[in-house]
Amino acid sequence: MDRRNFSKKMMMTGIALPAAGRILPDNGDQDKFKEEAGKYPARVFDVVVAGGGTAGVVAAVAAARNGAKTALIEGKGYAGGTVVEGGTALHSFFNLWKPFPGVQKRQVVKGIAQEIIDRLMVVGGTTGHGDVTGKIDYDCVCTAIDTELYKLVALEMLNEAGVSVFTNTLVAGAVVKRSSIEGVITQSRMGRELFRGRCFVDSTAYGDLSAFAGAEYKELNDHPVCNSMGLGNVNIEKLYAYLVKNNALGDLAYGMRSGKDGQIIRFGSESGYTIKGKLPQEFVDGVVSLGSGLITTTVHDNYLMFIKVNYKLPVSPTNRDEVAKAELKIRQNQYKTLELFRKYLPGCENAFIARTSPSLNIRRGRTITCDYDITLADVIEARHFDDDIMVYGFHDSAPRYQIRNGGTYGVPFKALIVKNIDNLLAAGMLITSDFQAHMSTRNTVCCMGQGQAAGTAAALCASRNIGTRDLKYSDLRAALEKGNVYFES
Ligand SMILES: Cc1cc2nc3c(=O)[nH]c(=O)nc-3n(C[C@H](O)[C@H](O)[C@H](O)COP(=O)(O)OP(=O)(O)OC[C@H]3O[C@@H](n4cnc5c(N)ncnc54)[C@H](O)[C@@H]3O)c2cc1C
Repeated sequence: MDRRNFSKKMMMTGIALPAAGRILPDNGDQDKFKEEAGKYPARVFDVVVAGGGTAGVVAAVAAARNGAKTALIEGKGYAGGTVVEGGTALHSFFNLWKPFPGVQKRQVVKGIAQEIIDRLMVVGGTTGHGDVTGKIDYDCVCTAIDTELYKLVALEMLNEAGVSVFTNTLVAGAVVKRSSIEGVITQSRMGRELFRGRCFVDSTAYGDLSAFAGAEYKELNDHPVCNSMGLGNVNIEKLYAYLVKNNALGDLAYGMRSGKDGQIIRFGSESGYTIKGKLPQEFVDGVVSLGSGLITTTVHDNYLMFIKVNYKLPVSPTNRDEVAKAELKIRQNQYKTLELFRKYLPGCENAFIARTSPSLNIRRGRTITCDYDITLADVIEARHFDDDIMVYGFHDSAPRYQIRNGGTYGVPFKALIVKNIDNLLAAGMLITSDFQAHMSTRNTVCCMGQGQAAGTAAALCASRNIGTRDLKYSDLRAALEKGNVYFES
């Protein structure tokens, strides 16, 4: 009897088939169990990308476009990750030019990241790149997205590139021989499988694959976790007028909204989370104590795309049990935030929670040790390297931290090469241990650029059957330029 029919028969007879190996009889040890390894199906690819989020989607598309037979393994039922669950807007395709008189605005990230925006524009899923003005304008450019259309566009682009996409499939382990990964062990409703590959990309945000493969990592737990909600039935113009009247408006941007250009697409209270404007004190104290605030973007009339609700965990978010408690707490705080919005903010009287993230988000979970760790000095001194794979010009803590002269710094290839492993690259929020350097590299557009580099490099390494450290930079650079990646020199 084959495995499928065997499983079916077991289900019909009401006997559950263990997800992994056979469970051995316990010997009276109630708090432990033993599992016997079984024999599972294996699939063979050139490149296996673990995690189909912000960086992973781009990595998989890049790998496939560069000729690799590519698998993308994603735990959720859609692609997109934190870019569709986390925050205000995509930061940033541009340099932070405004504080530097004479410095020109320029788009410094292009490639697949820009292609996604172009595709979203066609389906009404983005505001486009809107300049930020108002009292807080150091944020320079706001590119907001429709979370749901992003998921659609991401899956379509993966499909068109020929990526084999395995959604609802969890990376659950790694088979490692000496210093190379042989395969990724997964778990899904189809049971356990092995995805063999020649080169691997870890874009799981938490660095699950690297951790399973025995890589070095840190768990810094230096950010709150968050669940961002979308609020429907909001009168944006009424809310905007109220903030202006009360001298409480902070940043402001105009762009495409519900098919019309020149609309408000981003606005917030005077200082984002702390709201120092002239809003009712009870509202201000309430949202601050709930870890929330009023800084948001929108792609549609009557909708606030992201209202964040933060919560600081006592331990690292890899602790499943603490996260379970926080999932409840954050949902309670979301509802309380909604109540405050309804009570105090004109335009929000009839608002409702239209969307939440399926699970809480984190600004960083594990930080994986790579051959190079980008420092704050690298970022603010606008340093470039002889193995740059992209340039980037945004910092989340501007104006406190700026990139020198409104320029860019380079992300070196060695910052993506996971230490002590021959065929594993990392891309996304899981690189860069320095808190303030990470406040730049973790942003969505930087993660996407890293993804394009990691996927391209993985495809080249797989086709040549070489390790990541043996790839010639000139070959990687040529392939990235062919993929429309922008470099400054
Ligand atoms: C609350 C919040 C607000 C933010 N605001 C902004 C902002 O305004 N602008 C900005 O530019 N950036 C913002 N960021 C940062 C940015 O969104 C993230 O750093 C970035 O999206 C991370 O991309 P990533 O590819 O590393 O991870 P993700 O996009 O999270 O992708 C990881 C993917 O891996 C999958 N995965 C994880 N583990 C497994 C596993 N074991 N098996 C299979 N799949 C797995 C996940 O489901 C997910 O799809 C914010 C972040 C947060 C948390």
